[in-house]
Amino acid sequence: MNTGLQLYNTLSRKKELFLPLNAPNVGMYVCGPTVYSDVHLGNCRTFMSFDLIFRYLKYSGYKVRYVRNITDAGHLEGDRDEGDDKFAKRAKLEQLEPMEIVQKYTLGFHDVMRMFNTLPPSIEPTATGHIIEQIEMIKVIIENGYAYEVGGNVYFDVEKYSKEYNYTILTNRNLEDMLNNTRELGGQDEKKGRLDFALWIKAKPETLMQWQSPWGLGFPGWHIECSAMSAKYLGAEFDIHGGGMDLAATHHTNEIAQSEACSKHQPARFWMHTNMLTVNGTRMSKSAGNGFLPLQLFTGDHPLLKKGYSPMTVKFFMMQAHYRSTLDFSNDALDASEKGFRRLMAAVALLDKLNTYEHSEFDIDALKLKCVNAMNDDFNSPVLIAELFEAVRIINTVYDGKGKISATELDKLKQLINDFVFDILGLKDEESDNLELNSVLQMVIDLRKEAKENKDYATSDKIRIGLQELGIQLKDGKEGTTWSKS
Ligand code: AMP
Ligand code: ZN
Repeated sequence: MNTGLQLYNTLSRKKELFLPLNAPNVGMYVCGPTVYSDVHLGNCRTFMSFDLIFRYLKYSGYKVRYVRNITDAGHLEGDRDEGDDKFAKRAKLEQLEPMEIVQKYTLGFHDVMRMFNTLPPSIEPTATGHIIEQIEMIKVIIENGYAYEVGGNVYFDVEKYSKEYNYTILTNRNLEDMLNNTRELGGQDEKKGRLDFALWIKAKPETLMQWQSPWGLGFPGWHIECSAMSAKYLGAEFDIHGGGMDLAATHHTNEIAQSEACSKHQPARFWMHTNMLTVNGTRMSKSAGNGFLPLQLFTGDHPLLKKGYSPMTVKFFMMQAHYRSTLDFSNDALDASEKGFRRLMAAVALLDKLNTYEHSEFDIDALKLKCVNAMNDDFNSPVLIAELFEAVRIINTVYDGKGKISATELDKLKQLINDFVFDILGLKDEESDNLELNSVLQMVIDLRKEAKENKDYATSDKIRIGLQELGIQLKDGKEGTTWSKS
């Protein structure tokens, strides 16, 4: 087990030694996407960062339960309980059921995550699948005296809670300043205090998604789902809670308040926040309209793009920045990442072609220690990548006959590449993926040819149509059969 992992805790604003509550088990909760539209590249950055963290915790010997939710209800346009429901609005616009919207964008999200070679979480709970748990939690918060009901709405009483707990513990903001910067309550307002937020929202007659509750028909507020689902799957106290930095001030602040008001203690020991992907210095976001979709990036179909970049180039570009630094999107930076990634993959391809000698000029254990130290230092992937280029240098030197490596050290080097490039950074060699696809397809094409020769046209047609459905077109020519992606 790795006992040297330091990670930056937003709660203490410093790096701390990571010791899980119940080693070797680690519980990690990450706020997932709101599935009312396509995920943009900024969202992907956050999920790729937590994928790296998940992968490294597993490599470190921990048994990780990684819970990443799907927000499929309750997210209003404004963070402070105002505006339309994001799903209902989209459903009206696309003339679909809200659940059709949810299904469409959840599938799209999973496709994108697969393209970026991220691992699925251990549990992916949805808000709509946990309405009962959310209602139960709200009941306890009311019983404990930290929430109140007015005309079918339930609000969290921030003032009452703040008397016993620190509402701004995560961001260290001054509560007075926050009050002064929040809109004053008007005569129509049901809330007792300006900072109070909704736990349960009364349905209007036209509300598409609504559920029965002790307070009448309605739907949960956005924040309560994460408190309820993290407690259900990880317990009232768990190891790591993560999300993008933009979530700290409202969503996570309210999550802590809800969980504490329910169970009387902080839900997570470590709060981790990823920094934003920006475009010309502005945060990439759905609402700002500067969000590249992953597919646009792969095809190059966007006015700001010179050309398309492969998923692994984009991932390598993301991994070259530390998760707590901002990362600005640019063609030049992506071009550089493309070159770097190719150089790395070209060296990896040489590993099986190296000659070995009795003695070794290279000490792979020392290099591995540097890689581990980089990752133990708050998952410092840019430093890790710099160390991996030392491995590239060693491979190229031996290949060029300018240096000698022993069989034992070469085995260690292969293991290091396997662990850090493929298992931890989650990169893959796209060229060799294509090679595999090529050989599988060649086999299928041969089978079809055999079937035709045996006049088994049912089978040959089945193969052709089956491939077509998978988006692969066969073309019979004089030289034989070729294939292309349609
Ligand atoms: P949403 O679907 O808007 O709820 O966002 C899903 C996740 O993506 C959250 O953890 C956000 O903090 C994160 N996120 C949103 N915009 C960006 C961005 N530009 N860069 C990095 N992460 C982001
Ligand atoms: Zn959340």
